[in-house]
Amino acid sequence: MQIRLVSIPGDGVGPEVVAATLPVIQDAALMHGAGLDVLEVDWGGERHLRTGAPMPDDAAELVRSHDAVLFGAVGRPDVPDHELVWGLIIALRQQLDLAVNLRPVRSWENVPSVVTSAPGTDLLIVRENTEGEYTGVGGRTHRGREAELGIEVAVHSRPAIERAARYAFEQAGRRRGQVALVTKSNAMRHGYTLWDEIVAEVAAEFPAVECQPVLVDAMAAQMIQRPAELDVLLCSNLFGDILADLAAVLAGGMGMAPSANVSPATTPGLFEPIHGSAPDIAGQGIANPTACMLSGAMMFDHVGLPAAGDSIRNAIAVALLDSSNHTPDLGGTGTTDGLAAAVRSALNRERNT
Ligand code: ATP
Repeated sequence: MQIRLVSIPGDGVGPEVVAATLPVIQDAALMHGAGLDVLEVDWGGERHLRTGAPMPDDAAELVRSHDAVLFGAVGRPDVPDHELVWGLIIALRQQLDLAVNLRPVRSWENVPSVVTSAPGTDLLIVRENTEGEYTGVGGRTHRGREAELGIEVAVHSRPAIERAARYAFEQAGRRRGQVALVTKSNAMRHGYTLWDEIVAEVAAEFPAVECQPVLVDAMAAQMIQRPAELDVLLCSNLFGDILADLAAVLAGGMGMAPSANVSPATTPGLFEPIHGSAPDIAGQGIANPTACMLSGAMMFDHVGLPAAGDSIRNAIAVALLDSSNHTPDLGGTGTTDGLAAAVRSALNRERNT
């Protein structure tokens, strides 16, 4: 198997965590008899400043001729956030029809969490990725006047809900067989009641999977109080975005949480840590590369080489058992490169046994 990967290191800590991840995924591919061709592109904030666009017009076309994308982060203090988010990441999600966002979160032995109930957590957020509150439908009027207003329209369509729901139920079927549907249908009576109805229809196709509707505010509390009881959380775009950051805290912080943007069709997936460019620590060599490495592991799951993904996850677990490898976000004094080297040596030990 030959995997053709587009690498978008991006801005801030993006290039640091991607540089730490590429050798790890190269090793894992080799270990499992696969080859990895990497095409690195300069898309991101620096390109936006240089050319007026964060990525070229034919970006989606180039990605389509590959198997997957590994993405670091975008964001620069000198470029408004929304220009890069809309010009690159949301644009790619929409153009490639990456309808589902997967955000697995688990606790790790020897990695502290500020949430004391976190041990035993192993949950998966399945987030609808193309619409909800993030379609850009709406407008601003009466700018600068007293009556100034902004309207942001939430869009919820049957095909998008069905795609995300089916994905969530399939994943739950391979995990512990439980889906929590996260909505706010008591207060938002149009879009979220549509979610309730469609998800009930899809649930009927999966009799082995249990499904419970939970309001988003109650879910936020449950994620802190009893996270280990949760399996798959099916969420709209906005709720999934918010709850994923909350869930990351259970795993030890932003540096520990990976994600995958995938299409139920055969489009290449885009794999990225959930964190941003972290300008406060960029350039210091102390960013935690775990989230990016775990995103690389998800890439292997998606292209049909899950054993390589498992090898990476096992090697990370081994490396994290030694607190001297912990980066400052985990309370340690380790470095990005030090943690990556420990993961590689754990991988190589596995290869030699
Ligand atoms: P952006 O605008 O690009 O989203 P941000 O600073 O608003 O940047 P994040 O980049 O997600 O948002 O950073 C939030 C916090 O988490 C920061 O304090 C940052 O240092 C920390 N953080 C993010 N990623 C990592 C990482 N890989 N390792 C360690 N700390 C991280």
